[in-house]
Amino acid sequence: MSDIPLSQPSITDAEVAAVTAVLRSGRLSIGPRQDLFEQMVADRCNRKHGVAVSSGTAGLHAVLLALGIGPGDEVITTPFSFIASANSILMVGAKPVFVDVCSKSLNLDPRKVEAAITPNTKAILAVEVFGNTTHFAALEKLAQKHELALVEDACEGLGGVAANGKVAGSFGRASVFGFYPNKQITTGEGGVIVTDDDRVADLCRSLRNQGRAVNAHAGADNSVGSWLSHERLGYNYRLSEVAAALGVAQMERLDEMLEQRRRVVRGYMQRLMDWDDLVLPTAEPGTDATMSWFVFVPRLEASYGHVERDRIIAGLKRHEIGASNYFPCIHLQPFYKQHLGHAAGDFPVAERASQRTIALPFFPQMDDTQIELVCHTLRVMIQREQLLRRD
Ligand SMILES: *Cc1c(COP(=O)(O)O)cnc(C)c1O
Repeated sequence: MSDIPLSQPSITDAEVAAVTAVLRSGRLSIGPRQDLFEQMVADRCNRKHGVAVSSGTAGLHAVLLALGIGPGDEVITTPFSFIASANSILMVGAKPVFVDVCSKSLNLDPRKVEAAITPNTKAILAVEVFGNTTHFAALEKLAQKHELALVEDACEGLGGVAANGKVAGSFGRASVFGFYPNKQITTGEGGVIVTDDDRVADLCRSLRNQGRAVNAHAGADNSVGSWLSHERLGYNYRLSEVAAALGVAQMERLDEMLEQRRRVVRGYMQRLMDWDDLVLPTAEPGTDATMSWFVFVPRLEASYGHVERDRIIAGLKRHEIGASNYFPCIHLQPFYKQHLGHAAGDFPVAERASQRTIALPFFPQMDDTQIELVCHTLRVMIQREQLLRRD
């Protein structure tokens, strides 16, 4: 591991105690912690239902299935995201229709989304990239106007607030959170679907539990509604009690950890603010919107390209500082190029941004010495690029 890793979960004695208590209880799956964790996440985003699942990807898959999306359907989505958002569309046999992003927020551009709607469009799967809620109010309006389902991939957004005061996880028919260890809270692996729609919630509960009825009752018979009766093709997308207990302990510390993340962002901003070579991330300027800081990803300014960016990232890593190129565009991933026929140039805004991003180390416990060292090394690497340009 690097001296300063790219990310690191924040685990305290509270989490250790919560997990230990589950292990001692003997009840390791389908129990009270799952219910409590679901309720805590749903309450946080003012939703009626929470459905805990084994990953964010599983959650997106279940939601698209519950919405009845399948072969022949188109789902509009972003090329600038983690691969899971578009993969979930392929998993149900539908077609991901990529639309370019807005150059400031890096989220789906609502005007371009509207232009891409066809009679086959069934849903918009939008992502709060890096924890930014910009355009979600507009996307929600657009979905209503065209009678499409909006699915909010809020896997990077927990704790974010949009300009209209709505929180991440409250947009559209259903929203999905993911709790991999680099997210705002973690369950190791895991996720929660939140929705106000009773039918979608029931279907997701059944889909995560091998297609059983929502309140499948115990018993060895296979009568309808019993544990051994399976009503539809389902999956094992359940979250263990161990993971759910970890999630409860993390949710109890969510505000504390979000505040620590804001403190780290302030540390970075103070130091990087005056650098002409960098474009710094912000929430919607001039509004009350608050980012949920999932990662801290400045971009090199427009005169830089991916060769220089990649060299800077390699330089940071040589100095044992974690760094990454979040995100390579999804439509240019080998699998997508091959199967959907995409090529460089299809989504120029996403591509240009993606060539210049540098994800820097970012986690709640980061202290000023670490922030200083990252910024110092980044400056040296950028100066080196300026020197190379002169030759
Ligand atoms: C993390 C993430 C997911 C879900 O990832 P899992 O590893 O399956 O939990 C989905 N979409 C985005 C945009 C993500 O960042």
